[in-house]
Amino acid sequence: MKRVLVTGAGGFIGSHLARRLKSEGCWVRGIDLKRPEFSATACDEFTVGDLRDFSTAAQALVGIEDVYQLAADMGGAGYIFTGEHDAAVMHNSATINLNILEAGRKAGVRRYFYSSSACIYPERNQLDPDNPICSEDSAYPAAPDSEYGWEKLFSERLYFAYARNYGIEVHVARFHNIFGPEGTWCGGKEKAPAAICRKVAEVGNDGEIEIWGDGKQTRSFLYIDECVEGVRRLMESNFAGPVNIGSEEMVTINQLAEYAMKIAGKKLKIRHIPGPLGVRGRNSDNRLISEKLGWAPSSSLYSGLETTYRWIEKQVEANKTAQASIA
Ligand code: NAD
Repeated sequence: MKRVLVTGAGGFIGSHLARRLKSEGCWVRGIDLKRPEFSATACDEFTVGDLRDFSTAAQALVGIEDVYQLAADMGGAGYIFTGEHDAAVMHNSATINLNILEAGRKAGVRRYFYSSSACIYPERNQLDPDNPICSEDSAYPAAPDSEYGWEKLFSERLYFAYARNYGIEVHVARFHNIFGPEGTWCGGKEKAPAAICRKVAEVGNDGEIEIWGDGKQTRSFLYIDECVEGVRRLMESNFAGPVNIGSEEMVTINQLAEYAMKIAGKKLKIRHIPGPLGVRGRNSDNRLISEKLGWAPSSSLYSGLETTYRWIEKQVEANKTAQASIA
């Protein structure tokens, strides 16, 4: 039985990945600052611990063969583009990666997956919403539009440096906007699909929802199951990456809102308000993943959004019931 560690196993992608690894027969240890919020962990062993602390990281790595490193201080645009969290994001995430690699080297860990992000791509290539360039080789000269992106780029380099100097095996993916059930859907760290589903679910048929900016900014969104599939395929391949794991189905944020309204059966007004935006356009480029893994994500945004909307609608209803019982 393979013994694996999932760091960030209390978070969105980490909790889904832990479930997948368990279903494949692995023995899974999880670590996070918190337990998963929406369901019980699938991990065989779960530690609530802070990976900024070296000895906590070292303890988590004892007896481990493979590490899936998903822990990071992160959130949606409302968290990473306001500038308010820049120092924490850089310090916390870089410290986690430094600790995991160094403690892992001392413990003899041989194989790592690292979750980087599309946020590493230069802003200059993402000004045209219809033709963003996000091929893996466009990352340099580097010019990410957030400190979150700079930290990811630094940490990508850190993983490859450890691979070169200490002979460990690393696999690095750049995730593009992953969404799905059991992701953060309120509180300020949620991303666009969850935020829009929540707003649509919260208002009545004649209501309106707010969208940051003119809504013409473009993005692609990848459903969680395909993200996990990509992670597992990359980890089992002999390709180190970095490689995009994302969808090539690019939509505007206005279109995303229209999809959510269609799923909900509501026709709402959209009010555009100022807010943190990020780059003007972004889409995954799946040529490299197709070439190296013979596979690329293929499920439609609409079908993933349907499942996600139904889940968020339930959370909104449960919240309303809880508030009514307090009042
Ligand atoms: P998430 O915030 O749900 O999960 C990250 C987890 O890391 C959280 O549960 C958090 O508590 C934990 N964590 C933070 N600091 C920690 C610490 N000091 N010690 C232990 N645990 C700590 O985010 P997610 O969406 O599941 O993302 C997982 C990874 O994928 C992250 O590295 C993220 O940067 C990367 N990523 C995600 C997306 C996306 O769209 N979700 C896109 C690009 C990259």
